Amino acid sequence: MLPDNEAQGRLGALGSPSLHEHKRDAGHGRAGARANHWMEQAIATARAGIAAGQSPFGAVIVAQEVAQGRVVAASHNQVWATLDPTAHAEVGAIRLAAAKRQNIDLSGCVIYSTCEPCPMCMAAIHWARIDAVVYGASIADAAAAGFNELRVPAQTLIEQGGSRVRLEGGCLAEVCRGLFDEWRAAERGRAY
Ligand SMILES: [Zn+2]
Repeated sequence: MLPDNEAQGRLGALGSPSLHEHKRDAGHGRAGARANHWMEQAIATARAGIAAGQSPFGAVIVAQEVAQGRVVAASHNQVWATLDPTAHAEVGAIRLAAAKRQNIDLSGCVIYSTCEPCPMCMAAIHWARIDAVVYGASIADAAAAGFNELRVPAQTLIEQGGSRVRLEGGCLAEVCRGLFDEWRAAERGRAY
């Protein structure tokens, strides 16, 4: 664990907008348009997973080192494909990004996930030192779709664990929630 001031400096040096600014810009303005753009890629990844008989979750990790951002990794849920209960979209994207960067420290990156990270994924995001999470649907939406979710909101885990990861929900939420309907209509997957 970094001392507080060092972690602060590290985040501050990135010049990323604060959570407050993120929220203000969400859905409109340049920051909102950029978030929607990356979320659309997470949605496309989730749809590729649905087509492959996987569960309807997608995530992309975007590096902020260039102004417009750059995708480092994308993954959909692969629990059924790999028979690995931990193969959630966020975990898959983190594994790919760390391997690609040859670094377990993904600070300077933002993860866009079609669904609010479960406690396992939120912990993995914290361990990877990812700056921020932007998500669409909520854990409650995933539970309503039949997934055996731990009902712990990501915000609660961040606050109780003292994590510095920033969180912003509701990005393209309707489309992200609609992935559960697309998945049901595809009749190729099952909840777990
Ligand atoms: Zn998860």
